[in-house]
Amino acid sequence: MNRPFAPRPCPVCGSRQSTAIFRQSFAAIGGAQLLEGYDVAICSRCGAGFADGIPEQAVFDEYYRDLSKYESFDSNLGQAPPMEPRAYDLAATIGRFIPAPDSRVLEIGSGSGQLLKVLRDGGFRNVLASDPSPGCVRSTERLYGIPGVAGSIFTLSEPGGFDFLILIGVLEHIRDLDGAVSRLHALLREGGRVYIEVPDASRYDASADAPFQEFSVEHVNFFSPASLSALIESRGFAALAVERVERRRNQIVCRNIWGVFVKASEASGAAAVHDAETETGLRAYIEACRAEDDKIRARIEQSLPPDGRMAVWGAGAHTLRLLAAGGLDPARIDVFVDSNPKYQGKRLSGVAVESPAALKRYDGPVLISSRGFQGEIVRSAREQYGLTNRFILLYEAAQPL
Ligand SMILES: [Zn+2]
Repeated sequence: MNRPFAPRPCPVCGSRQSTAIFRQSFAAIGGAQLLEGYDVAICSRCGAGFADGIPEQAVFDEYYRDLSKYESFDSNLGQAPPMEPRAYDLAATIGRFIPAPDSRVLEIGSGSGQLLKVLRDGGFRNVLASDPSPGCVRSTERLYGIPGVAGSIFTLSEPGGFDFLILIGVLEHIRDLDGAVSRLHALLREGGRVYIEVPDASRYDASADAPFQEFSVEHVNFFSPASLSALIESRGFAALAVERVERRRNQIVCRNIWGVFVKASEASGAAAVHDAETETGLRAYIEACRAEDDKIRARIEQSLPPDGRMAVWGAGAHTLRLLAAGGLDPARIDVFVDSNPKYQGKRLSGVAVESPAALKRYDGPVLISSRGFQGEIVRSAREQYGLTNRFILLYEAAQPL
């Protein structure tokens, strides 16, 4: 399945001149695939980073509407999940910029709704949730009594109705940024503000996750403070503040950028500054990932005899990338297992994906294909499934397993 897509102009400045600095590839599971890969491109004019060779916005809209992975807590009927510390950090930053307790606040991509709950508990009583996932909207309403609408940035209506918009971890997913920013402009009243937070692609950290994981199927824009500012300020907004920040999520520290922008009556006309940080940062990240990837391949090679075979635990993004990049040879894999029922019963590179319980009948080595959950998987394999197989680990364990 090789679908050519029209070249993507720079989403920040519209230039059609760009340079590809890396090709990322994804394998498919069960025939379902949003895209098989993309080029990481740098705009020749403004220096912004973005994924090129990707489908139209409508294809992403459909994908996010159907995606259920952000809804896992929806099945947790009646029980609110524990509050993430991150929600309080974000509320502390954002609360300073919301003009008044009765300001009409809309979060676009509100997910679990925890940030809105903290803001509401802090005195902002007029908050509204919205998310492409109807399950997220329902559970925010049920758990926290916060009303919401299911939809994407492109389907929300009520022009001029809001004093304050919040988008956290949203803009890096959107192909049509020009359309998205003009929607933000339309939703805000004159003088209204928008808070935007995105990953800082000029400071991607190769040691924070598996190699090249930042170039995921879902991340199609790679922002720096300069390119985020240029995107928003060139479309009828003035910046109040743009800062770098580190957010802790579980064990991982995410390097992000946040900005607050005010809807202006006239375009600023400010000349865009060429962003030199994105290309430098992305090239450093790519180099460090290549080195880490070499280590992983060597570990796989050294852990099996030349004709040895294995099972692989994990059928998610980590495994898909290894397969697509040639780091895993399907001819040497007897079975994939994954605890996610969505993957079970499917095939990956022609090999069956089964429940981890299938390993009770398997005595070969088991490769753990995950970085973030490596330790958790080994513990679950031993304690929940009683497995005594040899485990092949791809990463140094933080604690002895
Ligand atoms: Zn550009």
